[in-house]
Amino acid sequence: MGEIYYILDASAFIGGFDIQNSLNFTISEISEEVKDLKSKLIFDEAINNGKLFIKEPSSEGIKSLESIISNSGDILRLSMPDKKLIALAIEFFNEKKNVEVITDDYSIQNVLKILKIPYKSILTEGIKGIYNWKKTCEGCKKEYPDSYSWDDCEICGSKIFKKRIKKD
Ligand SMILES: [Zn+2]
Repeated sequence: MGEIYYILDASAFIGGFDIQNSLNFTISEISEEVKDLKSKLIFDEAINNGKLFIKEPSSEGIKSLESIISNSGDILRLSMPDKKLIALAIEFFNEKKNVEVITDDYSIQNVLKILKIPYKSILTEGIKGIYNWKKTCEGCKKEYPDSYSWDDCEICGSKIFKKRIKKD
């Protein structure tokens, strides 16, 4: 398999997906969904640096998507931008490209699962190689090793959550 063709949903920009190589794609509507200043900056910079490309899927792609998932309840929850994003993924997938969709949208993820197209969620799982997790007490902020198997802090009894930390 060659390089990965990333297809980025708005959540990829909002969640801070690290745009590294030059094979990142999105659809035009996403630029309107990326509203906050920081995400917008990441988006515009990636476009200007030639790392991110806006590509429109063919209307046949959208039609074939609609026929494939017409039996799934997800079709009702998908917006037109969602459908275009998935249709683009189908096009790349059919061209035997090594594609991966970056999205936090569960409806999109469900459809990708049906289509057997790889995807990653940026906020819930983190992106491999970019983020690490650290078990941390929400009360006293004590950090625990992964092997610590209790849900409560041994010092203060507060809940332990997984904190996302960016690798440097
Ligand atoms: Zn604690």
